[in-house]
Amino acid sequence: MTSFLECFSRTVAVCAGSLLCSISVGAPSPAPAVSASSDLILINGKVITVDAHDSVAEAVAIQGGKIVAVGTNEEIRELASKNARIVDLHGRTATPGLIDTHCHFDATDDLYAINLSKVTSVAEAVELVRKKVVSGKPGAWIQGAGWDEGKLSDRRYITAADLDKVSPSNPVWLTHTTGHYGVANSAALRLAKISRDSKDPDAGTIDRSPDGTPTGVLKETAMQPVRKLIPEYTRWQQRSGLLKMMADFNAEGMTAAKDPGTEGIRWDLYRELLDENKSTVRIFALLYGGRDMDSARKTLARLQSQPKPPESQGDGMLLSGGVKLFMDGSGGGRTAWVYDPWLRNGQPDTTRAGEPNTGYPNIDPPTYREMVKLFHEAGIHVSTHAVGDRAIDWVVDTYSDLLRQTPTKHLRHGIIHCNIPTDHALDTMARLQRDFDAGYPETQAPFLWWIGDIYHASFGAAREQRLMPYKTYTQKGIVWAGGSDYFVTPFPARYGLWASIARQTSSGTQPFGTAESVDIHTALKSYTIWAAHQLFLEDRIGSLEPGKDADIAVWDRDPYSIPTDAIKDMRCELTLLRGKIVYDAVRTKSK
Ligand SMILES: [Zn+2]
Repeated sequence: MTSFLECFSRTVAVCAGSLLCSISVGAPSPAPAVSASSDLILINGKVITVDAHDSVAEAVAIQGGKIVAVGTNEEIRELASKNARIVDLHGRTATPGLIDTHCHFDATDDLYAINLSKVTSVAEAVELVRKKVVSGKPGAWIQGAGWDEGKLSDRRYITAADLDKVSPSNPVWLTHTTGHYGVANSAALRLAKISRDSKDPDAGTIDRSPDGTPTGVLKETAMQPVRKLIPEYTRWQQRSGLLKMMADFNAEGMTAAKDPGTEGIRWDLYRELLDENKSTVRIFALLYGGRDMDSARKTLARLQSQPKPPESQGDGMLLSGGVKLFMDGSGGGRTAWVYDPWLRNGQPDTTRAGEPNTGYPNIDPPTYREMVKLFHEAGIHVSTHAVGDRAIDWVVDTYSDLLRQTPTKHLRHGIIHCNIPTDHALDTMARLQRDFDAGYPETQAPFLWWIGDIYHASFGAAREQRLMPYKTYTQKGIVWAGGSDYFVTPFPARYGLWASIARQTSSGTQPFGTAESVDIHTALKSYTIWAAHQLFLEDRIGSLEPGKDADIAVWDRDPYSIPTDAIKDMRCELTLLRGKIVYDAVRTKSK
């Protein structure tokens, strides 16, 4: 990372060859730090500004990390100071740095656990576990993440019996891609004291075979007894996970994220990286508020010790944003709280007791309302996870009631996922946005793709047409903010841009139809200016306009003019954060 900046600070010239040849030939260290007043211009590009007129310019002038002008090549060249650094875009496209409004911002599992996101059969997953067992210490925990039965040729859950064959004594825990369930082997179940006599916990499910024996799959709160036994990653490992995540983000033209879980030492690590000038992604951090008033009060006390957004730390780099709550569970796991029963193999799903399975709230609904009241009255931003229609209604009605009682504007309370809003929820969100600057869906178009096949199996034909109803949002004047929910789906925002239009599952089908598709212009807003708004940073980022910070991504192609399918394959070539290069494809490749 340092080397980009070193080179960047020493080189000047109009580049004739590759995008950044002028910048890549700097002298070795030690080099002076980039001066805040350095001039930089980007010329000969298609500069998609995402301003109010969606205008496209040719060039941008940057001073001290801020955009001072956007315009034609001639206009911008005139503004360049004598020593200005000039980057010739050679016709490439620049956009605002892309923003993810719901990302579990952590690559630690990617570094240290088994990555199961690409496995296509149970046997393949088991083989990866076997290798880890063989190379690891006897008895040590084996962890993996990212499996999805919708992508396995077996079309079934991985079970304890599968894992026991290769790991009879090492405890194993493999988290599902949704994070809402996972599978333990028998050694892990034994350690967690989960047996056929165990009752399902409140807001959790122990999956069982017909005779009542746990299969190893544990959902929602039922995961806790196993998860709490797994040793935490060390501070160093977690720090490495954050640094990797930041670098990976920058390589995808991404410069900001809303991180919904910053418990433990994560906040301290964010501060530490900021203090060491190693932070290359803006972070809007949420703290989990727990499931009762006691946890809510503790979270409130922590939040009140920090400045509230839009106040930030590191000049817009780190915000203690507010609180995250859960109203329900997962669509893939059929635990989200819905009005009509979930489907399983095309038939209405039932609970163990033979009742229709309509999921369940993660939290006692009246308690949830009291908790939100506590935060709202303290002027704290709240984002609530709500997947099912019934959960979404409860969340928007809660926001609506509280805003009627205490009409504090601009807290921008969010509905995370907001998968299948009812007409009532749609109208309520539109009204709350208009009257209070609140009630924003923080939604993940890539769900339609990455877990679209398990969604299709669970939601059923009638309900799934309403999934992520972006077109309806535009018709009702509802603004939404895009994201990935990484590691639920891959984080590159290009996938979300594409999925907002294509609405295609990973098997290549379109069960959700395209009636709710939007065009690339609208999709891009949801990952730029509208996303910036949900980070309380819309005055700084989200569009390329004079006065804003120069968070800019340069792409190998123009998303406004290419076929939809090509959008998901866009390659980032250069990323600037506050006018400084944080990613340069040419240099990265030559390393
Ligand atoms: Zn999430």
